[in-house]
Amino acid sequence: MANYNVCTLPGDGIGPEIIAEGIKVLDAVGAKYGATFSYDERLIGGAAIDATGNPLPEETLEAARTADAVLLAAVGGPKWDTTDSSKPRPEQGLLAIRKGLGLYTNLRPVRTFAALSDASSLKPEVIDGVDLMIVRELTGGLYFGKRERFFDEDGAGADGAKGQRAYDTLEYREYEIERIARQAFEMAKVRNGRVHSIDKANVLDTSRLWREVVHRVAAEYPEVELIDMLVDNTAMQLIAYPRQFDVVVTENMFGDILSDEASMLTGSLGMLASASLGDGTALYEPSHGSAPDIAGRGIANPLAQILSVEMMLRYSFDMADAADDIARAVAEVLDEGWRTGDIKQADTDPNQVVGTERMGDLVV
Ligand code: ATP
Ligand code: MG
Repeated sequence: MANYNVCTLPGDGIGPEIIAEGIKVLDAVGAKYGATFSYDERLIGGAAIDATGNPLPEETLEAARTADAVLLAAVGGPKWDTTDSSKPRPEQGLLAIRKGLGLYTNLRPVRTFAALSDASSLKPEVIDGVDLMIVRELTGGLYFGKRERFFDEDGAGADGAKGQRAYDTLEYREYEIERIARQAFEMAKVRNGRVHSIDKANVLDTSRLWREVVHRVAAEYPEVELIDMLVDNTAMQLIAYPRQFDVVVTENMFGDILSDEASMLTGSLGMLASASLGDGTALYEPSHGSAPDIAGRGIANPLAQILSVEMMLRYSFDMADAADDIARAVAEVLDEGWRTGDIKQADTDPNQVVGTERMGDLVV
């Protein structure tokens, strides 16, 4: 009987509430498919800052490294918000664990659930049948480049007084582009055979290198169609014609922005999962944040967390049938009319508006 060790990171806000439902569902499919899961719960984010002063304690990273997969809920909250850059912030724990595990690929599936197609502010005929996968580079680019903020002579402008000045550096190496491109083409091969590569090659040198390398990798995948698209055009196309996209591959910051945009196609952030893959342990988490405004009330939507368990089964444990079961269970629960508060619709039966735990039970 297969036994997998899952490092669980509840984090902050609604994190502990939703991760409990993810674990419940994982245990249920384990029972059905003859796999057992053991859990190693660790600290990250604000909870880790409070306990240790460090948003990613060394023992958390070590536990994550040696686990078969990492299930994360969410980090952050107003308690730790600060503009003082010398103070630790929960989000640093996220960046550090991505870097520490070498997670250079972030996968964000965006799929329309038929039962929720009127949750989007876009017309049903635009979003019906949307099923795309954003493949975002996660450990390079602007968020990890050399940066500085300082006072200097011309920082304040014309009067010559000293003022503040800041810069961030956007840098990519060939091998970083090559490995993310390969992930995207591999993904397209088992999906619908199309890759949109997003850049700003009319302005940026990093984008010109990106385009060159992606085309070189594309030559190894003649069965996959490659389309280059500028990032500004993509922002528009995603809203106007989202069905044209299958796999969308892009660098770190463009991917951050476009994946938030794409997440709203379906109308609810509470429904979207994500996976971060590298060469070692992979990490699975909902796309949404820690929702501090509703934390501790038992009303958070656990479905994005549950769908992140689906991705874990698919990409880390090679349990595609179990993953399909979860996807189907979620769709059925929604088809039957069950809703958490964030996804309830005008015609939802008030008796079918349920809390976090009940929603998890329904999926089970
Ligand atoms: P982050 O910076 O970590 O992305 P954020 O402040 O941008 O966080 P969220 O924490 O995702 O955003 O919250 C945005 C809004 O969505 C909040 O009103 C929150 O209550 C709601 N929300 C987020 N996730 C859920 C969920 N799982 N269930 C219900 N509501 C949610
Ligand atoms: Mg946010």
